[in-house]
Amino acid sequence: MPIVVQKFGGTSVADSEKILAAARRAIRVKMEGNQVVVVVSAMGKNTDLLIELARQITEEPPAREMDMLLATGEQVSVALMAMAIHSLGHQAISMTGAQMGIRTDSTHTQARIQSISAGRLRQALDEGNIVIAAGFQGIDESQNITTLGRGGSDTTAVALAAALGAELCEIYTDVDGVYTTDPRVVPEARRMQRISYDEMLELSSLGAGVMHNRSIEFAKKFGVPVHVRSSFSDNPGTMIGPEPESPEQPVCGAALVKDEARVSVLGVPDRPGAAMTLFSKIAARNVAMDMIVQNVGEHGEADISFTVFRNDLPATLKAVEEAVAELGAKGYDYDDQVSKVSVVGLGMATQAGVAERMFRSLAEEGINILMISTSQIKISVLVARQHGTEALRTVHRAFALHEEPAPVVRPAASAAVEQSPEMVARLQSMEQMMIESVALDQSQALVTLAGVPDTPGLAAQVFDEIAEAGVVVDMIVQSVGRGGRANLSFTVPRNDLGKTLSVAKLLTEGFGAPPPAHTEAVAKLAVSGIGMRSHTALAIRLFQSLADAGINVELISTSEMLLNVIVDNRLGEKALSTLRAAFGDVLV
Ligand code: ADP
Ligand code: ASP
Ligand code: MG
Repeated sequence: MPIVVQKFGGTSVADSEKILAAARRAIRVKMEGNQVVVVVSAMGKNTDLLIELARQITEEPPAREMDMLLATGEQVSVALMAMAIHSLGHQAISMTGAQMGIRTDSTHTQARIQSISAGRLRQALDEGNIVIAAGFQGIDESQNITTLGRGGSDTTAVALAAALGAELCEIYTDVDGVYTTDPRVVPEARRMQRISYDEMLELSSLGAGVMHNRSIEFAKKFGVPVHVRSSFSDNPGTMIGPEPESPEQPVCGAALVKDEARVSVLGVPDRPGAAMTLFSKIAARNVAMDMIVQNVGEHGEADISFTVFRNDLPATLKAVEEAVAELGAKGYDYDDQVSKVSVVGLGMATQAGVAERMFRSLAEEGINILMISTSQIKISVLVARQHGTEALRTVHRAFALHEEPAPVVRPAASAAVEQSPEMVARLQSMEQMMIESVALDQSQALVTLAGVPDTPGLAAQVFDEIAEAGVVVDMIVQSVGRGGRANLSFTVPRNDLGKTLSVAKLLTEGFGAPPPAHTEAVAKLAVSGIGMRSHTALAIRLFQSLADAGINVELISTSEMLLNVIVDNRLGEKALSTLRAAFGDVLV
């Protein structure tokens, strides 16, 4: 019998009536001839209330006890949901994470799923029950209760769907699908009919709170079709699957992280392994970094800047202080009043001028860009927090995301990725990282404009004029401005270096900045896979292996799908084999 997993979020089980309504949905699907697993979150704002209670007792509650507390929220809702189904005349049994055998690692409050023993679940289903599963929780090797991170019930749902080989995972929530951006922030946002795993993975890790990003890692890895829809209506919702909605569109959605922080470590000795020392200390605290920018200074010293969620700032600064002392760096500074605005789309990989369009739209609103980091399918900019929402609206408008994309003629729907039991077995650890490829590109040149004015419109002007010259820019990285001046680095095809430099020379003269610096040939290494940014251990492995091989990293960009580094061209082959060896065990 086909299995369907349905997940109901907090607002969808906020009171008894909503619980009964959700119960009816589950019964309906059961009556249609399916086995049904219902995953539930804590009721309404219960998790927030529990966190608040803990804070009233202590500012730093032990993480283990925090998990013990938070897991109670879901335990309340599973029991009530099972009672609701009974009261409607059907059979149901509720289970906690431990009872379902959801085994996780021991990273309390951010645990990752290692395995699920589906036996007990299957037995309960075969006995004719609707199984009501507690979302967000698991148990570690020593029987401690763990939780998967805020929003983690989505991950429970998709993981159960993968482990049971379910036909479909339905996510019932308080919006009727995935929108081009958060409809509460930008009312003109449009519901998408479908979105690809890759795009959803980037969007959710860049701030689209509708899905827990790790749930999309599972969905992609195991080919689970996910249907996001409203628990309050029968609207069609959004399908998350292998295909994008419209491959022609350069951008499918935009996202905002309102509370971000930028940290810069200053005067780091520019030698292999220095960045690595810093990153590993941060990763050890389970903090994911984004927008990593490294500027090589004049005296063999570099400044390294990056962003983290503002909530992670205290832990990050502790790590930074240790690293500064150990490396003998000059010091550090930070800005905790910044927001990150990103656009995502598979189509941008093959279309020119996308970044420039984003920069131009912000310039026209007078919004200054503090940092830039681009990857194959996303562009992120950092802006002052007070401009965050306005910047999101602006880029949403610039890409006309409110408009329905042109209809696409689609070949007959391709079957979902076949999920073989061997595959599940091979990933001894379900949330283990998985690398798809390590590639070397030696066709690019690197250009750096140092000391350009840190004013609105600067990036727009530079990339406008370069695009005018017919040059397609690949990686773009802009560092934090200091003393009113910023550095802008980007890669272009080697053949276009001459053209690019003549444009760049005129630009820098106009700015009263030093002439552009360039490296005629650089090697770009691209490591692609799933969950590249949030698996902090992965970045560490990358930097550690390059450092051990004595290879200095000149430019970095990170995203959930891709980690790019630029190194000296002569070291390209060596870097490639180093990385292949470093990731050999997780390369699929
Ligand atoms: P649940 O409790 O059901 O898990 P969440 O609050 O976690 O619900 O997620 C739903 C919310 O996500 C919506 O109310 C919406 O404000 C927000 N959201 C953010 N980005 C998006 C987006 N791109 N599309 C739809 N909703 C979004
Ligand atoms: N109840 C948890 C939270 O609020 C998990 C979830 O709702 O997904 O974060
Ligand atoms: Mg949620």
